[in-house]
Amino acid sequence: MRDSRLAVRGARLFDGETAHPRPVMVLIEDGRIVDVDLTGAPPPEGVALADLGAVTLMPGLVDAHTHLAFDPNGNTEHQMLHDDDATVMTRMREHAAQALHAGITTLRDLGDRGYLSLRLREEYATGEPGPQILAAGPPITGNRGHCWYLGGEAEGAEELVAAVTSRAEHGTDLVKIMATGGMSTKGTNPGGSQYGLADLRAVTRTAHGLGLPVTAHAHAAAGITDAVAAGVDGIEHCTFMTRSGVRLDPRTVDAMAAAGTFVGCTVVKPREGMPPEVLETIEPYWENQAYMQRHGVRVVCCTDAGINPHKPHDVLPGDLVYFAAQVATNVEALASVTSLAAESCGLGHRKGRVAPGYDADLLVVDGDPVHHIDDVRRVRAVYRAGRPVARDSEASSRGRG
Ligand SMILES: [Zn+2]
Repeated sequence: MRDSRLAVRGARLFDGETAHPRPVMVLIEDGRIVDVDLTGAPPPEGVALADLGAVTLMPGLVDAHTHLAFDPNGNTEHQMLHDDDATVMTRMREHAAQALHAGITTLRDLGDRGYLSLRLREEYATGEPGPQILAAGPPITGNRGHCWYLGGEAEGAEELVAAVTSRAEHGTDLVKIMATGGMSTKGTNPGGSQYGLADLRAVTRTAHGLGLPVTAHAHAAAGITDAVAAGVDGIEHCTFMTRSGVRLDPRTVDAMAAAGTFVGCTVVKPREGMPPEVLETIEPYWENQAYMQRHGVRVVCCTDAGINPHKPHDVLPGDLVYFAAQVATNVEALASVTSLAAESCGLGHRKGRVAPGYDADLLVVDGDPVHHIDDVRRVRAVYRAGRPVARDSEASSRGRG
């Protein structure tokens, strides 16, 4: 009989919240962590040991905002209107594998077409190796509103309630609503609301009644304020655009901190070659994220992977390095993509920590990301539900790319 137990040993541990700078051995059984030893004890008799040397063990990363269906190097609207389901599914599997090799063991898809991410979730749940998927299905949006081409148009209380109910019937893990316009959809205005407070309340009341959390895409300050007042669980982007530029509203920030609202920070990292007008707008977005973090808002570093060439599906560790420079300490940043991100996805009891009872989703990196955050990209190994998913050489070359 095959022993399903495995011990993984490293030089130090980040457990999802706290750094433990001493040798650690994680004992895994049937895909779950059963023990985390910091005393230097040998593995129990008969248990295979993977001693990985001068590495840090940490929880697998959680990307709380992705779009697996989008090829970042193409036009998303064109892809979604013209590619058939088989083509999109093939692409989604490639993107999920790319993320997994970078150490992202859980992905929350916040916008697909035709509930295809639920199909992928089922594939991985029934044996195919892949990351854990959570899925919102097509985001709810106004008529010809932001990402209308994903098929989620609904306006007015009656249609909105029906849209939420239909997502629950499909088995989504949450509801995503586009509270404001977006930057990537022609003809929509990110600085303007797509719904009023009463509409948003109808959505949160219905969703929460069905046991589904709600996260709202919101750039416009007014849309953010309304979504928070309506009791959404999370705000994506949260850039505070107004007619006269980017202007954060401290009262809304206080309300988010008090309510425990999560913010999904997807701001792009500045890169060489970006036009100056883009760089100018990115700067205040980052300042706002730092302000929210300082004022007690639960800011989750996530990506919006897929939406443009700066956002490939394995971009999270790279964006995290910049997030740590702008918004949070290294430990806070690492927690933001592990324990906090898991909590924001409703998986705080199973993911994002290296602790007994948690899923054995591990990222093993060379060096010590608590002191050198960049080390989070030096992937040595990835374990998903206790199974190694990446070879050493392959993983480290991808991780450094
Ligand atoms: Zn998005």
